[in-house]
Amino acid sequence: MTSASTNDIEFRSVTKRYGAVTAVSDINLSVPKGAFVALLGPSGCGKTTCLRMIGGFEQPSEGEVLIAGNVANGVPAYRRPVNMVFQQYALFPHFDVEKNVAYGLKQLRPRLPAEEISRRVGEALEMVRLSGFARRRIHEMSGGQQQRVALARALVNKPSVLLLDEPLAALDKKLRTAMQIELQTLQRDLGITFVLVTHDQEEALSMSDLVCVMSAGRIRQLATPQEVYDRPADLFVADFVGKTNRFDGTLEAGGTIRLGNGTALPAPRGDLQPGAVTVALRPEAIRLARGAEGATTLEGTVTHRIFLGSAAEYSIAIDGLGDLLVTAERHNQSENDLVAPGERVAISFDPGTAHIFPA
Ligand code: ATP
Repeated sequence: MTSASTNDIEFRSVTKRYGAVTAVSDINLSVPKGAFVALLGPSGCGKTTCLRMIGGFEQPSEGEVLIAGNVANGVPAYRRPVNMVFQQYALFPHFDVEKNVAYGLKQLRPRLPAEEISRRVGEALEMVRLSGFARRRIHEMSGGQQQRVALARALVNKPSVLLLDEPLAALDKKLRTAMQIELQTLQRDLGITFVLVTHDQEEALSMSDLVCVMSAGRIRQLATPQEVYDRPADLFVADFVGKTNRFDGTLEAGGTIRLGNGTALPAPRGDLQPGAVTVALRPEAIRLARGAEGATTLEGTVTHRIFLGSAAEYSIAIDGLGDLLVTAERHNQSENDLVAPGERVAISFDPGTAHIFPA
C-alpha cells in the first residue's frame, strides 16, 4: 500500500511488546523527508525499539511503520531503504577500511561490478573525510576515525534514511562535540533523513531539526529543539530537557497562582482549571538582586555557589517554601558582583517565562 506522503517515516498507532513488557505504547510519529530527528529519553523509554522497528530488526506488535509512504511491516531489514550505525560500530577489526565499507555492497545480488564498488567506497570515504585511509586496518584507527568508517559503511549503499543508535557514546567530550558538528554538516549536505537515538539532551538539542522526547514507551513531545526547551509540553519534558526549578502552588479562580509561602503570581495561561499546579522556571529566566530591590517575587538566602566561568549557579533557600532550591545563571557580572553564600537575595522573573502544569 502506498500513500502520497512527504514523510520519510511514519508510525501509526505502533505498539511493541516483549512478553509482558510494553516497550512502545501506541505511538504516532511523522518524520518529514530530509529531517534530522532525535529520539530523546531516559534509559528504557523505548527509543532503541523505535529505531529497530524502522530498521526492520523488530516488527511492531500492533500498528504500522511506513517508510517513504510504504507500509514496511514484515519487510526484512536488507530490503528497506534504511541503514543503521550501531553504538559499538560493529566493524571487522582485522579488515582494512575499504573492506569494511565495501562489505554490504559485496553481498548484493546480482553482484555489482568491482569498479562500481570501488568508486562507491571512494565516494563514501570522501563524505566522511577518510580518503587516503582505505588500506588502514580498523584496530589502527582512533575512536573518531572508527566512527567515521561506520558512517561510511552505512552510507555506501545510499540509504534514504540513516539510523544512528547513540553513535557518539564511545567518544570523549571534545571529540563528541566535533563529531556532532560533522554529523550535522553531513546530514545537511546529503539531505537524507537521519534518526538519532540519544539520552543526551545537549546532543539532541544541538544537532537535530526535531526532538522527539519519550518516556515509558510514549512520546511526550515532538517539536523543534527551541520549542521543546521554551515551551515544554509537560513537566517531564521541562525536567528532562534542560534544568528546571519547580514550585508547588494553587491556581485560584481569579487567575492568580498562590505559592506555598503565600506569594501570588499572575497565571500566564488561561486554559487551566483552578486547583493544584506546578510552576516550572528555567534557571536563566531568573533575575537575582542583593537585598530586596526591584520587582521582588521571592526572597531567600544563598546557600551555595558554583562558579562556571561564563556562568555561576546559585542554590537559594527561599523563605517559606521549605528547602526548595533555586538555581540562577550568571549574567555578565564582574567578580565583585557575584553573590556569596550567606547573602540575602531577591529573585524576580517575568511571569511569561514560567510554565504552569496541572499538578
Ligand atoms: P537505552 O537508552 O537504555 O538503550 P531505550 O530507551 O533505547 O533504552 P529500549 O531498548 O527500546 O529502551 O527498551 C525499552 C523497554 O523494552 C525496556 O524496558 C527494555 O528492557 C525492554 N526490551 C527491549 N528489548 C527487549 C527484548 N529483546 N526483550 C525483552 N525486553 C526488551
